[in-house]
Amino acid sequence: MTPERYAKILRVLSKRQPTLTVLMDQVNKPHNLSAIIRTCDAVGVLEAHAVPPDDGRELDFQGQTFDATSGSAHKWVSVQRHASAVQAVRDLQGQGVQVLATHLSQRSVDYRDADYTRPTCVLLGAEKWGVGDEAADAADGNIVIPMFGMVQSLNVSVAAATILFEAQRQRLAAGMYDTPQLSPAQLRGRAFEWAYPELAATCRAEGRPYPVLDDTGQLPG
Ligand code: SAM
Repeated sequence: MTPERYAKILRVLSKRQPTLTVLMDQVNKPHNLSAIIRTCDAVGVLEAHAVPPDDGRELDFQGQTFDATSGSAHKWVSVQRHASAVQAVRDLQGQGVQVLATHLSQRSVDYRDADYTRPTCVLLGAEKWGVGDEAADAADGNIVIPMFGMVQSLNVSVAAATILFEAQRQRLAAGMYDTPQLSPAQLRGRAFEWAYPELAATCRAEGRPYPVLDDTGQLPG
């Protein structure tokens, strides 16, 4: 670990937004998952959420599902899996997160009218059938990107990027990238995991605390 690399890790983590996330409901094409995760990394999402496709296929969120489109972003954005979208929506709401479903309904609003400075999860739907009605109903709001073309919808990763960069715009204006949103302990922990992923996994498996790194990211001698 070079001091420069460790400084970059700290810089990136100091901009991470633990109160901004996405829930991918059965998004099943690896290039779409990868592109969404790459956008999450760019915007500062710390952890994303996903419900695997309902086709019996097991998704490997640690690597295989992501293709080159992710540009290795999956190493920097963890993905928490859920069995059902409705349950995931309720769990997130229980943690004080507003869930905004990308879904056309009577109560849909323009995505730019939502307040993304609040703890927010953007619910994204499967390529074929979109967000299910039950999950959309359970969400706190429904948002849409206005469409004026012949085609009714955008590619899911394009929709995710459009909405997440509006969230980034609002959060930049509110100064939410100016000070770390992670606590010092969370930041130190993540920095260790990013700098020394294998050692971090060993420490977790053995129930040992992470070693304290010096200011340049070096392990104690
Ligand atoms: N036939 C599907 C439907 O009726 O919903 C189309 C799904 S679209 C290809 C896949 C996902 O991209 C949607 O579930 C949503 O998450 C996102 N999406 C696409 N176009 C969108 C738009 N105009 N506004 C908001 N989200 C959109």
